[in-house]
Amino acid sequence: MKRTIALLAGDGIGPEVAEVARRLITALSDVAGIRLNVEDHPIGGAAIDAHGEPLPKATLQAALAADAVLLGAVGGPKWDALPPERRPEAGLLALRKALDVYANVRPVRSVPALGNLGPLFAAEPIDLVIIRELTGGLYFGRPRGISGGVGARQAIDTLVYTEAEIERIVRLAFKMAEQRSGRLTSVDKANVLTSSRLWRDVVERVQADHPSVTVRHVLVDAMAMELVQKPWVHDVIVTENMFGDILSDLGGALVGSLGLLPSASLGERGPHLYEPVHGSAPDIAGRDAANPTGMILSTAMMFEHSFAMPDVARAIAGALDDTFADGFRTADLVRPKASAAEDGGDALRVVGTQAFGDAVIERAVARLKARGVYA
Ligand code: NAD
Repeated sequence: MKRTIALLAGDGIGPEVAEVARRLITALSDVAGIRLNVEDHPIGGAAIDAHGEPLPKATLQAALAADAVLLGAVGGPKWDALPPERRPEAGLLALRKALDVYANVRPVRSVPALGNLGPLFAAEPIDLVIIRELTGGLYFGRPRGISGGVGARQAIDTLVYTEAEIERIVRLAFKMAEQRSGRLTSVDKANVLTSSRLWRDVVERVQADHPSVTVRHVLVDAMAMELVQKPWVHDVIVTENMFGDILSDLGGALVGSLGLLPSASLGERGPHLYEPVHGSAPDIAGRDAANPTGMILSTAMMFEHSFAMPDVARAIAGALDDTFADGFRTADLVRPKASAAEDGGDALRVVGTQAFGDAVIERAVARLKARGVYA
């Protein structure tokens, strides 16, 4: 069976990490003998420049018709002055809404070979999952806007959650907690926000259907502290859209770089959307300096969730571990002031995005071949 992947590279470092994903997919499909068709479509600033809108109809139709959607990143200073509804980010929000991918699953895992990478780096290994509600809350509030004259302006954002929106993501989180350690942390701001009180109420109601899962409710401010002080006590974390956005960037710092984190945005049916957690990183764009790990692991999640090929996903994740263990690093994984000995000595090979991608692809192909499943 032939499957189609819509590849939306986007802006900044998006096209650089998307290129690695494309070569990885081609190499692995050749080895595994599967037919994967990668189709490129514009989104974000690139689409504004080419077609005058951040999510052209043709891109949306191609995404809806694909078997999976893989996205780089959108946004950048060039388009910052545009009104919110015409900015690159509006294209991504509209795509998530149209695909109805309400559950953004963000694994945060330490890479053993990396060593200590800075002040927030977790002292113990961590392996947790942040499940962020993706299609409701503040980022989709209506009405919104600024009124009044300069000096007396008023800005409005609204935070709306329906019980159904909360319930579907909470149910998914309980299921994931059952498959993992049986521990679920629900993060809210129930001491202040009414939407959080509804959130907590729904979590408690759904808990009755999952008696084996232990739930802790933690306020988002306390959660920021706990994630820094003792992240290893958490396993599955479920939270609303904005809190999940902020806490998962903190997750990047805990494991060494935002560039390491992947995500899968899942809906009831699919196509699902896979994208690294990071943005378009304009500060390093165009320099072959981006860490493609988040994109590579997002591709692995695509093989697992959309194509039911966990062996390919495992080969990719294993190849990444091998690549790090062999000393390959992108620049974000090297502390500027660390001594060579602290960071792994002369064994470290600091390389660009594409060379790092090549090292992973070579090892992933070798792993798949070694398993003997594929010729
Ligand atoms: P960012 O995630 O782009 O960058 C934050 C910091 O992390 C930067 O210092 C950057 O260099 C570094 N970084 C990010 N990804 C990296 C990688 N793969 N390798 C190495 N270093 C990496 O966030 P920002 O700077 O706040 O936002 C830049 C633009 O990206 C904005 O226009 C923003 O709206 C957009 N954005 C898009 C998405 C998305 O497309 N999903 C997500 C977040 C931000």
